Amino acid sequence: MHPSATNHDVSPDGAVSRSRRWVSGALAAAVLAGVAPCGATIAQAQTPAPAVKLYILDLGSLKSGNPQPLLDRGVTVTGMSVVAYLIVHPRGTLLWDSGTIPDELVKPEGTTVARATVRKTLAGQLAEIGYKPADITYLALSHYHYDHSANANAFAGSTWLVQRPERAAMFPDTPPANPIDPDVTAKFSALKTAKTKLLDGDHDVFGDGSVVILATPGHTPGHQSLFVRLAKFGPLVLSGDLYHYPSERTLKDFLPFGGRGNDAQEAASKAKVETLLKDKGAALWIQHDIVADAKLKKAPAFYD
Ligand SMILES: [Zn+2]
Repeated sequence: MHPSATNHDVSPDGAVSRSRRWVSGALAAAVLAGVAPCGATIAQAQTPAPAVKLYILDLGSLKSGNPQPLLDRGVTVTGMSVVAYLIVHPRGTLLWDSGTIPDELVKPEGTTVARATVRKTLAGQLAEIGYKPADITYLALSHYHYDHSANANAFAGSTWLVQRPERAAMFPDTPPANPIDPDVTAKFSALKTAKTKLLDGDHDVFGDGSVVILATPGHTPGHQSLFVRLAKFGPLVLSGDLYHYPSERTLKDFLPFGGRGNDAQEAASKAKVETLLKDKGAALWIQHDIVADAKLKKAPAFYD
């Protein structure tokens, strides 16, 4: 079944209208082009892009645990970058992902835990650009895996934006067949009582189409990606773990982490995002693409 068949654009506090406005983006473009609208939001289409800033926070790298199958498919650099992003919008801030080693374990000379090495703390990089965790309006994780959720507890004072099935996987009512490693659950445990906005699909975070969470289930039950429209840079999508290596986009049968989530659902999510990238003329930033990430500027520099 196509995932959208089970995902309703409804959320507890009226996100339905925002979601529909997002969906009507093509219609808004038609309005700009002078095509007669049928209830499209003309004001939105004519409003200049808001001053959105995007900071990339360097949270280290991961070595591949099993490089041979990657090398066999032509991946020459098998390590992965780990990053988080701070989106600053006139109406608030959104932290996207939170790293692989909790800040309290990161030493100034760098810390290695298993396959992960981290040299800078998340809080330190936020402080450098003038933010403390209490300043962050929204926290959204692409998904709950350990390399994205390590510092989640520090942001339990923010409003957590999470897909309904992801939260259900993170905090199951009954013990699941494949429980999440308790070391991982401990790092996001505080989110259980955080102010939470449960999402059932795409969600326009600030209500103007500039920052939109995209439901991209498959890798995990409520995996999500993020669309951001920047005035100078243009539109882009942060992948989450929809892809890990750029070659996954061309080698459709290359699923280095397949079989752990729902591969059919993931394929549908990839098709959805590829269509959106084309429609919007958006760039795709694959968060774990260590080669591409090395070329991007990191905080305190930013994209706008
Ligand atoms: Zn990951």
